[in-house]
Order: sequence, then C-alpha cells, then structure tokens
Amino acid sequence: MAVTTTPVDDGAIDGFGEGLHGELLRPEDPNYDETRAVWNGMIDRRPALIARARGISDVIAAVDFAREHDMVLAIRGAGHNIAGNAVCDDGLMLDLSAMRSVQVDPEEKTARVEPGATLADVDHETQAFGLATPLGINSTTGVAGLTLGGGFGWLTRRYGMTVDSLRSVDVVTADGKLRHANEDENEDLFWGVRGGGGNFGVVTAFEFDLHEVGPEVLTGMVVYHGADAPDVLRHVRDFNETAPDESAVWMVLRKAPPLPFLPEEVHGEDVLVVVPFYAGDMAAGEDVLAPIREYGEPIADVVSPHQYAEFQQAFDPLLEPGARNYWKSHNFSTLSDEAIETAIEYAQELPSPQSEIFFAQLGGAMKRVPADATAYPHRDAEYAMNVHTRWEDPADDDRCIAWARAFFDAMAPYATGGVYMNFISEDEGEENLAYGTNQQRLAEVKAAYDPENLFRMNQNVKPAT
Ligand SMILES: Cc1cc2nc3c(=O)[nH]c(=O)nc-3n(C[C@H](O)[C@H](O)[C@H](O)COP(=O)(O)OP(=O)(O)OC[C@H]3O[C@@H](n4cnc5c(N)ncnc54)[C@H](O)[C@@H]3O)c2cc1C
Repeated sequence: MAVTTTPVDDGAIDGFGEGLHGELLRPEDPNYDETRAVWNGMIDRRPALIARARGISDVIAAVDFAREHDMVLAIRGAGHNIAGNAVCDDGLMLDLSAMRSVQVDPEEKTARVEPGATLADVDHETQAFGLATPLGINSTTGVAGLTLGGGFGWLTRRYGMTVDSLRSVDVVTADGKLRHANEDENEDLFWGVRGGGGNFGVVTAFEFDLHEVGPEVLTGMVVYHGADAPDVLRHVRDFNETAPDESAVWMVLRKAPPLPFLPEEVHGEDVLVVVPFYAGDMAAGEDVLAPIREYGEPIADVVSPHQYAEFQQAFDPLLEPGARNYWKSHNFSTLSDEAIETAIEYAQELPSPQSEIFFAQLGGAMKRVPADATAYPHRDAEYAMNVHTRWEDPADDDRCIAWARAFFDAMAPYATGGVYMNFISEDEGEENLAYGTNQQRLAEVKAAYDPENLFRMNQNVKPAT
C-alpha cells in the first residue's frame, strides 16, 4: 500500500487538529495504540495521524485533508475487517467509532444508524419495538463494513441481505461533499454502496427498513460427534432444500469448545454444531425444525425460545478481538456429497482449536433479488462457507495460513466461483471473485465519485478509464 507522498508540515497538522470537534492523535499520544488496534491480531499498522470524528464536519475535514496532502486514508467503523483495512501505515486513519447513535422510527419502521455503530447497538434499539434489520451473527461487528460488503446473518433468508433493507445513505465523497443517495437520488452511488465496500466515500448515515422479529425466536444448538458429521451434514442439506424462508440452519465443523452443556470428555474433540434458527410463529417453528432436532444421536440439543438480541451475542465469546485470523470463503449453489466429504477431511486436520469451517445457509429472500439490482452479486448462493482460521501464536502463522489456502483450493471445484468480500484476508486479487459480474459497473461508479482513488484502503475497485 502506498504511503504518504508529500510530507505534511506540523503547522498544517496543527490547523487540521484545531478544526476538529473530535481528537487528533499522533503516535506519541497515550491512547494512540489502543485506537489503532483492530479485531484481527495479525494487523499491526501505525498511521501518522488518527482523526476521531465526532460528526460530519470532522469527516469532511479528514477527507479534505487526506486529499489535499495526498495521504493514504483508512476508514474505521468497528474495526472487524479481516484484512485490517481500517488502519494504514503512515497515512490518516479516520476513526468513526464514536459516531454510533441509532434512531428508530417505530411507525415508519426505519432506523437511522451512524457509521460507528455495532450490531449490538442496532439490535438493542430496534428490538425495543420488536423490530430488526438483517445483520450478522457477532454483536461486536460494525454495521458499516458489514453493510457495505452485503451483509448476511440469521434473517437473510427471510428478509434478504443487509443491503436489501438499506433505504438510503449519506456519503461524504472524495471531493468533500455530503451527498444523499437512495433509489431516486444519486442512484448509481446508492447501487454501488450496496456491496461495493468503502470505495465511493465515507458513509455518515445508513437508513434501514425494519421488520417485525421476535423478540423471541426459536434457536440454539444441536451438537453431534464428529464421526456423525458426514451423515448429519447430508441430512441438514436435504432438509434445507425445501425449508421455508423463516428457517435458517447453519453447520459448523470444529473442536468442541468448553460449553457448559457439553460433557467434559467431549471438550476439544471433533464435533458438528448444527444451529437451527426460526424467525416466526413459535409453534410453527417447533414443527418446522423437528426433523433437524429428531435426527440421529446428538450429544446435546439446546434449542429453545431465545430473545433475538441475546442470541445475536451467543457467539461473541468465541470471537473475542486480538487473536490471529486468516479467513477465506466460497459460495455454493448446493452442497454436493463430494464437497461434504472434502470439508470433513480438512475438518479432521484443523490447524488450531479455535479454527472452524462454517456453512451459512443463504438462499430464500436474498436469492429472489436480481444479481445486478445491487452491487452485491452473489444471488445464486445457497451457502456461504467461511474458512475461519484462528490461532494465538505468531509461530503458527505459516502452518495455519497454508491449511486455509489448501482447503480453499480443495473446495473450489464444488463452489460457484464467488467469494464474500467481507471474508477476504489480504490483497490476493480475490476482489474479482467478490465483485463478479458487477465489476465493470462498479468501476464506472468509482470513476464518477472517486476518480483519483482516494478511497483505496479496501477491496479496491479501480476507476474505469
Ligand atoms: C467476528 C466476526 C464475525 C463476522 N460475522 C459476519 C456475519 O455474520 N455476516 C457478515 O456479513 N459479515 C460478518 N463478518 C465480516 C464483517 O462484515 C467485516 O469484517 C466488516 O468489514 C466489518 O465491518 P466493521 O465496520 O467492523 O469493519 P472496519 O474494519 O471498521 O471497516 C472495514 C472497511 O469498511 C469500510 N468502511 C467502514 N466504515 C465505513 C464508512 N462509514 N464509510 C465507508 N467505508 C467504510 C472501509 O473500507 C473499512 O476499511 C464478521 C467479521 C468478524 C471479525
């Protein structure tokens, strides 16, 4: 990544800092290290300056300053991006994490969300009215990065990708102007932000449509011995083929964590965790999910009614920040027997106790949106697989990354060829697979709003020439 090309004099930096409502941090400041830290412990970058925005005027000032001084600009929401794009070496990091208000209009069923909000911030406010918008499955993730990449979670089959519930955005573009974008105004910008990442400007507000959800949903876990995984995976796959949109059943191959409902002798052993989720009438959900819960001989079944907002935090303890992470992904239109066998083969050689292979069931409402309706193109995906490699010791880097790459390659013959932009770990040219058939139009939108590629700390779209 390019570094600062023009040394910036201290006077200009002082003037920039004095004009901000929020703080301007330099490497010698006491909270500099804590502010530059991001979720993936592999990322250790040192920006020359960190601007902690308190409002839109700070965002405009930061964009203008980076452009005028030819500085690399990194944008941070909640810092969960696996590639660590929220932080740069030498340039300006724009930290939006203090801008995290969520305003719900229960009558209109909309929420206006600031760019530093986490999923927990949104779920907390929307669930007060029995409402929700489809987000991800870990409550500390940032709404901004997740939405800009497409966004999927438990409600995706019922209500679509996160971007399918996006009604409008406010964006500070590379020229420092604040633009409103929706289906009728700056339509091309609105199309681009719905899956094209942070390529077009700094989003200062997201307006979402809300849907009635819960507050109780039927969900939990059904845990099987690793030896039963081939049979159970095929069973869940067959069940999923005709399941209603209210139902989403995900599958995770991993070593058993020390969960209180699992017998101690199972801890650390290979298991298959099946996570059924039903957002709808509770009695109907019991009937729909019965074939999942009545199958085989699970070690534990802890499926029951849960508060939706609480279940959104269920996996947080397994996803604490600071560990080393290398992720890859594939999309599948179906899970063939061969794909299942290959996944199990690699699951038996997981490189660390925290690593996992998960299959998120997609399809449903998200599949009924045309591939060119938004920048997010993978409407053919019935499953997204995350090769979630996670470990602690830097000495294990090469071994863990090699496992992830080998597994990714081994699954490629069964996959659609599309990958999830938000699960890309580093710049390996995977953007082409992430943007797919929408790449050319993205390049045209980029040329219209950011012809000099100021916003390039991301899964980058080069401006069309
Ligand atoms: C533990 C964990 C669980 C996850 N679970 C899911 C899941 O269930 N579903 C899912 O879809 N994804 C999931 N993800 C992936 C997640 O969507 C991405 O990591 C996403 O980038 C996180 O957004 P953030 O705001 O926290 O990231 P940040 O690292 O803060 O930002 C990521 C990038 O997004 C861009 N960006 C951020 N804010 C703005 C803005 N306001 N304007 C313009 N550009 C901006 C920038 O390019 C930035 O570098 C998960 C990730 C983790 C680490």
